[in-house]
Order: sequence, then structure tokens, then C-alpha cells
Amino acid sequence: MIDLHSHSTASDGTLAPAEVVRLAVDRGLSALALTDHDTIDGIAEASAEANRLGLDFLPGIEISAEYPHPGTLHLLGYGIDPQSSILRDMTKTLLEGRDNRNPKIIDKLQKLNVAITMDEVEREAGGNVVGRPHIAAILMRKGYVGSIKQAFDKYLAPGGLAYFDKERLSPVKAIGMILESGGLPVLAHPIQLRYQNDAQLERVVKDLLDVGLAGIEVIHSDHDAKLIAQYSALADRFGLIKTGGSDFHGANKKVDLGIANGRRIPREYFDSLLAAIQNRKAVAAK
Ligand code: AMP
Ligand code: ZN
Ligand code: FE
Ligand code: FE
Repeated sequence: MIDLHSHSTASDGTLAPAEVVRLAVDRGLSALALTDHDTIDGIAEASAEANRLGLDFLPGIEISAEYPHPGTLHLLGYGIDPQSSILRDMTKTLLEGRDNRNPKIIDKLQKLNVAITMDEVEREAGGNVVGRPHIAAILMRKGYVGSIKQAFDKYLAPGGLAYFDKERLSPVKAIGMILESGGLPVLAHPIQLRYQNDAQLERVVKDLLDVGLAGIEVIHSDHDAKLIAQYSALADRFGLIKTGGSDFHGANKKVDLGIANGRRIPREYFDSLLAAIQNRKAVAAK
């Protein structure tokens, strides 16, 4: 069993990259992808630890692309080359989007008489990627809310008292940059698109396919059996790779590594993904 969707302290998870790898080994997983939001800062550490422990490892990244509310469109990039200059440009742009947004959230919270500072939030984050879950963790610790979810509902999610959006890449641009960085773009947790009907979902998938989408995340903590069957059929129909992961965030999310809504993710998903990445590299080298 494997996990192709996980976050570390490099973004908004609570375990260090090497700790995520060690947990994967403890859980008996045979392969892992680290997919931190907007950064590859954790990849070197995770990759070295995976190598040491004999765990198959894929470098990854997760990007939130432009998409109308209330849904969100996240793209996973697998097999990206950490040395790629395109990738470096992309992560720089994405971090600027966060750095422009986060002080607005903190200002608004302060106006609402919440005692919180940008310094505290940066300390909470540790790394370069400062996200809303870090703010949520502080709100919870200080007793302003009872849970991370409540922090989002009341303050941080769209419609919340201190919600601000960040500048995003268009899906076309995000997919293009993942491809140019040697990676394969995969649509993450399609349920979070909050589509009105199946036709709308298919239209989104088709549009992304036209600009280079390679896969779809079939198994995820937010997907039930019915959705998994539906996304699996969609993948087959469009010739998309199937992936799966828990979206593990350590203590920031009630999700266990290697288990997605009670389900395990088959090894076969990793093997097909790896084969597709290698195949594309071989074609590109010709
Ligand atoms: P950010 O990257 O700062 O925009 O924060 C997005 C991250 O916050 C997501 O990837 C999730 O990990 C988390 N998140 C988003 N919405 C919620 C929610 N309603 N409840 C809990 N966590 C959420
Ligand atoms: Zn996250
Ligand atoms: Fe996501
Ligand atoms: Fe994620």
C-alpha cells in the first residue's frame, strides 16, 4: 500500500519531511509522494530519508489554481525536477501570492480583536509556506475556536470574517509549468470542485485534458465508494492515470497517513504513475 498525497512542515503539515517518510515506513507503506503546497523545500530531506529506509519516493507539489468559488481546483505535480528553473519561478510566484494575502488576514483578525501577529504565524509555519492552517492552529490554541474546522468556518474560509483570496495561477499555466518542470499534472480531489452536476465535472476535466492534464486523484479522504467508482470510470474513459492519497497533514487534519476515508491505496497506482513519468522523460529526451 502507498500514499501519493501528503504534506510536511515545508507547507502546512506538522511532521518534518523525514518524519513523514518514517511514519510511512512504520505504517507499512511501500511508496510515498510528498506533495507540499507551493514548495519543494521538503523534497531533498524526504527523498534522502526514503532512500536510506528503502521506501519508493516520488517528489511532488500541490498547487491551488484559479477557480470560481465556492469550489477549489488543486493540481498535483508528480515527478517534477527539483532543479528546474521553471519550477523555481513558479514556487516564487506562488509564495508571493501568500505573502500578499496573509498580512490582510492578520490585519482583519486584529480588527476583530483577535490577539495574533504575523510573527507568531511565521513562527508557527516554520518554513516559507505560510498557510491558513497555521493561522487556524493559533486560533485554536488561544481558544478563539474549538477546532481547525471551526477556524475555517468562522474566519478563514470563503464567507468567513477574515477571508482573503490569494493570487493564483490559471489552471492552464499551472499545468504548463508542471509539465515544463518534468512533472505530470493530476487533478486533486475532484469533489472539492463542488460541481453542480456530473456534466460540469466532465467539462472541467475535458478542458484540463486539452491543456495537458495527465491524471485524476481517484482515492482521497474526501471521496466515498460512489465517488471513487465514478472518478475511476472517468479516468478510464479519458485515458487518465489514477492516483490516490490521504492528504495527510499531521495534527492539522484528522487524516492518517496511508488511509483515505478508511481505504488503502493500491501499489498499482504508484507503479502506473512512475511508468508514465519515466515514459514521458524518455519521449522528451528523444
Ligand atoms: P492556504 O494554502 O493557506 O490557502 O490554505 C489551504 C489549506 O487549508 C488546504 O489545503 C487545507 O489543508 C486547509 N483547508 C482549507 N479549507 C479548510 C476547511 N474548511 N477546514 C479545514 N482545513 C481547510
Ligand atoms: Zn494543506
Ligand atoms: Fe488540496
Ligand atoms: Fe493536499
